[in-house]
Amino acid sequence: MSTSLSGKTALVTGSTSGIGLAYAKALAAEGANVVINGFGDPAAIEAERQALEQASGAKAHYSGHDLTKVDQIEAMMKEAADLFGGVDILINNAGMQHVAPVEEFPLDKWDLIIALNLNAAFHTSRLAIPYMKSRKWGRIIQTASAHSLVASPFKSAYVTAKHGLAGFTKTIALEVATFGITANCISPGYVWTPLVENQIPDTMKARGMTREQVMNDVLLAGQPTKQFVTAEQVAAMALYLCSEAATNITGANLSIDGGWTAQ
Ligand code: NAD
Repeated sequence: MSTSLSGKTALVTGSTSGIGLAYAKALAAEGANVVINGFGDPAAIEAERQALEQASGAKAHYSGHDLTKVDQIEAMMKEAADLFGGVDILINNAGMQHVAPVEEFPLDKWDLIIALNLNAAFHTSRLAIPYMKSRKWGRIIQTASAHSLVASPFKSAYVTAKHGLAGFTKTIALEVATFGITANCISPGYVWTPLVENQIPDTMKARGMTREQVMNDVLLAGQPTKQFVTAEQVAAMALYLCSEAATNITGANLSIDGGWTAQ
């Protein structure tokens, strides 16, 4: 399988941590320019940016825009266009979670989760597609979730956004199918990242459980392998979708969830 990505530019949203950082590392290892995005300690981000350049022998650029805001998404995409001409591989990965019953769900959290987990992917995609069409090649990959296929209680905004992302991705796939562009969702089960770790206290509260009960009876309960997926396994699937072997995989929602959604 040839996945050399030299000469291509990949933009990964939410790539200062977790799954996004694993994507950036995997793409850089294949020689792509990478644009990373997200929040965090500036010195740690700069160290990651330099490591990506060393791995790729190409360029890595950090764009720290807040993707809940349309003008900042537009600024990030303009930076990528100014620096690299455009984006060949777009990975919409930035996401957040909030755990609360529907009737208590904070209004600002609902709006933020829909803006980041769903609307941002619309804005980056609409801005990336013209360049991909001009190149007759492109890859749009969404980090969706098992929650794009099934629901869990107390995650209404997240489940809504991820189901929406799955439908949006199928629509893009149909619109760009004759332009050498594919659009797919990768849908992980639980991956051990800060996003998962941070929801444990609220889940303990919402369900009246201990930390151990949340880990075993909630997080891993539905995952038949009883293992967390790793960020590197998710990144390997993205790399495969960028390869020529995956040219005819489009509009798919690919599960990597230890069997969760087989039940
Ligand atoms: P994470 O918290 O480690 O990473 C989230 C990233 O998004 C970080 O880089 C963060 O700085 C960035 N981010 C947060 N708010 C942002 C904003 N307003 N603008 C720009 N960037 C912002 O989480 P993760 O687990 O690596 O999650 C990555 C994606 O994977 C998310 O879309 C999440 O829904 C999805 N996912 C995660 C799991 C899991 O179990 N961890 C499972 C399925 C899907």
